[in-house]
Amino acid sequence: MATVVMKFGGTSVANIERIQNVARHVKREVDAGNKVAVVVSAMAGVTNQLVGWVKEASPLYDMREYDAVVGTGEQVTAGLLAIVLQSMGYRARSWSGWQVPIKTNSAHGSARIADVPGGDIRKRIEGGEIAVVTGFQGIEPKDNRISTLGRGGSDTSAVAIAIGLEADICDIYTDVDGVYTTDPRIVPKARRLAKISYEEMLEMASLGSKVLQTRSVELAMVYKIKTRVLSSFVAPEAMKPFRIDDIENIGTIVCDEEEIVEQQIVSGIAYAKDEAKVTLLKVDDKPGVAARIFGPLSDASINVDMIVQNVTPDGKHTDMTFTVHTGELARALDVLKKAKVDIGHFDVKSSADVVKVSVIGVGMRSHAGVAARMFKTLSEKGINIHAISTSEIKISVLIDAAYAELAVRALHTAYGLDSD
Ligand code: ASP
Ligand code: MG
Repeated sequence: MATVVMKFGGTSVANIERIQNVARHVKREVDAGNKVAVVVSAMAGVTNQLVGWVKEASPLYDMREYDAVVGTGEQVTAGLLAIVLQSMGYRARSWSGWQVPIKTNSAHGSARIADVPGGDIRKRIEGGEIAVVTGFQGIEPKDNRISTLGRGGSDTSAVAIAIGLEADICDIYTDVDGVYTTDPRIVPKARRLAKISYEEMLEMASLGSKVLQTRSVELAMVYKIKTRVLSSFVAPEAMKPFRIDDIENIGTIVCDEEEIVEQQIVSGIAYAKDEAKVTLLKVDDKPGVAARIFGPLSDASINVDMIVQNVTPDGKHTDMTFTVHTGELARALDVLKKAKVDIGHFDVKSSADVVKVSVIGVGMRSHAGVAARMFKTLSEKGINIHAISTSEIKISVLIDAAYAELAVRALHTAYGLDSD
């Protein structure tokens, strides 16, 4: 017997019929003797509507009340699923974040989970009851207020519950059947990955592949929670129930690197459209300038991603290029304008018409030539690179948005990722 956490995203619970379908997935696991906790998202579109109402009510809103409003979507789904399961003859009970309790810090709107005891739920599921837990919400214990975990946060709730219950698997049911080598809408030859390491998934998640919330992967990695991404749209009866000693080869398993036998050098190609490029031209080339540029940006909580500084022949001036989130471009430019007295002279150019394309793979640690192949592939397609950044398992380049699809396709082929 295994303890299984099953999480269902918004499209999987979009209407009553789909909630009934979800109930059949749950039935399969319970009938096989597994102990089950279900974590649900709000029905598709509901959270967006709730956020919209908050903003309409007042453009300047209290984040505590924002959480009070947007946290309700998950409660509706949890109650409905419990009702459907009960109607099928199962003992099921819904749980809100505060009832579990999923304790968070006080960063309302994007709170972090501090603690999940899971004691009461554990007793209940051990006694054969199905626990249906609201994703996305928790409780801030100091003020005793509902908190939410940031958009997409139900994934993180699911992993946290899996930690609390010491579950054998955290199954994330969604509308795609796994994690792909790249976006299949762009590259029809993209392949589903049977396994991907936590670290790679973390890069994929933070680089724009939206299958899992980044924090959920961080949490799963720290606590070594085996996580599986799979589709709720496969007929529930066509899937085998979870077994510890025989994990069915469906979906994608996110796990420890050591568990992946046939490790590719590159596992995936990700792209992010929400980067904007800022170039400061003819900045003084002397100590302290970078601090005077990036200090004020950081004070304004603007995240800077890639940074390139040119060496200029005269040794007096330099150009500095960096990227920020598109949504923060205007604010970044404003911050720089205000900091101009400190920074000294510069001309500024900016563009949101860029994308960041990244190749990801833990195999890079032990293989040379991965970057060279990337640059060669892009150059053969005549694609110019504006900025480069690397980590141990990733190389990212910034290119013109117009070439995004061409670049992703060419790289997918170049690293041997195309399916036959
Ligand atoms: N309903 C929340 C959202 O849309 C949380 C989630 O679905 O993961 O962001
Ligand atoms: Mg999601």
